[in-house]
Amino acid sequence: MKKVWHKIKSHVRKPRRGASPQALSASAEIVPSSSHHISNQDISSASLKVLHRLNDAGFSAYLVGGGVRDLLLHQKPKDFDIATEASPEEIRRLFSNSRIIGRRFRLVHIRYGREIVEVATFRGAGGNNVEDEFDSNQDQIEENEFPAEKKRKRQSKIPAGILEYDNVYGSMEEDAFRRDFTINALFYRVEDSSVIDFCQGIKDLENKKIRVIGDPEKRYREDPVRMLRAVRFAAKLGFTIEEQSAAPIRKLANLLSHVPPSRMYDEFIKLILSGFSVQVFELLTHYGLFEFIFPDTHRCLNGASGELVSNFIKVALQETDARIASGKTINPAFMLAVLLWHPLQERRHFYEGEGHNLYVANQLAQNDVLKGQLSRISSPRRTTTTLRDIWMLQNHLAQTRKMRIIRAFQHQHFRAGYDFLLLRGRAGESVQSLADWWTRFQQADEQAQEILMNELQSKSGSKKRGSRRRRSPLKK
Ligand code: ATP
Ligand code: MG
Repeated sequence: MKKVWHKIKSHVRKPRRGASPQALSASAEIVPSSSHHISNQDISSASLKVLHRLNDAGFSAYLVGGGVRDLLLHQKPKDFDIATEASPEEIRRLFSNSRIIGRRFRLVHIRYGREIVEVATFRGAGGNNVEDEFDSNQDQIEENEFPAEKKRKRQSKIPAGILEYDNVYGSMEEDAFRRDFTINALFYRVEDSSVIDFCQGIKDLENKKIRVIGDPEKRYREDPVRMLRAVRFAAKLGFTIEEQSAAPIRKLANLLSHVPPSRMYDEFIKLILSGFSVQVFELLTHYGLFEFIFPDTHRCLNGASGELVSNFIKVALQETDARIASGKTINPAFMLAVLLWHPLQERRHFYEGEGHNLYVANQLAQNDVLKGQLSRISSPRRTTTTLRDIWMLQNHLAQTRKMRIIRAFQHQHFRAGYDFLLLRGRAGESVQSLADWWTRFQQADEQAQEILMNELQSKSGSKKRGSRRRRSPLKK
């Protein structure tokens, strides 16, 4: 790797004035194809089609962002973002399979089968609504639990007529400087396979540094989500956040509470799915960010059973990372259920202390914990429903009556509930023998399952009560 970068440096040349298709600033460095390993073959065919068609129509267009960064690091990019001088309308006219999304800073989505290529027009220096600019879901109102949030989002939709578009779009160079980190501001040109670097991103890639472009405090204030992005890229790439870029994070961490909960949810998903969630968790804690995302969990981590809580979360994150590494899917509801499990227990104890029975206490505690959390991160309704099911199953899996056992086993989220139970056992809760019983139960054939259930019933003496069908207050 070192060698490659060395080679790049020695081949870097200043662009000629008027370099096609757009005059580049004298501050840009152009790395020719002979000095790096990226080629057009590394890019998805849909993105290539878009780039070529834009170029053929006379517009400059580049691959940017994570795609270029990850390819230079020999990693597989998650997606390929494209930036161009063409306006959204011009892009739209060139591609019949496209649609414009977004309110203020509009993007174009071009669909090729299942792949969607996102194309953005170069951003200017004067755009002021950063959250809208970088939130590609800005037009979608999340289905979340809070009508107030929905209302706020609807109200914040500015009528199209009074939008000011001055300064929203800009030059390629302006676009580079509007990006978050130097390593995310590299452009790749398909025509000659060169990489264009305005912000010394290549040097930072070489030194494994996450460096904010411009004044870090100002850029974090503009968009606090950048602090989470810094952490995510540091964890995912094994980089360090450069000193000056790291310095203001602690002081500004509280700004996260002003980020719309739906955007926080999107970021939370990216953090969890990064494949390096253990490191993400450590960095979020280290920089004082975690407490502004999961305040109740943070309190439990610093409470009397902090070690148990921390162990539980870490084991879950390790498993998440391992699942991602082996190509398995992750249910965000599971991770939310994990992160909020101890706040739930704390709240349940409180209600039990008030004289409520276990079921009622659980229900009240769930409502409290979710209400508090969803004001930070608003998960879609189906995620919250799954999360409640996973928690509810923890009680149902502990039932000894045959009917209840069968019902729990047939539940659509049984597997997630069982995995959650295993996790609790592994993290030191006294549910190991229960988890073992369910493991045996799943491995057994029907006849053996009958025997297991009968044994359990006779041990607990619950048979007599078996015929009494009482509706659990947990059931919605
Ligand atoms: P990945 O897709 O692997 O998560 P990425 O760097 O491509 O990483 P995206 O969210 O896809 O991240 O954004 C694409 C590019 O847009 C980034 O590389 C960066 O240049 C720019 N960008 C995204 N979000 C912001 C932001 N909040 N502030 C400034 N620039 C941003
Ligand atoms: Mg990307």
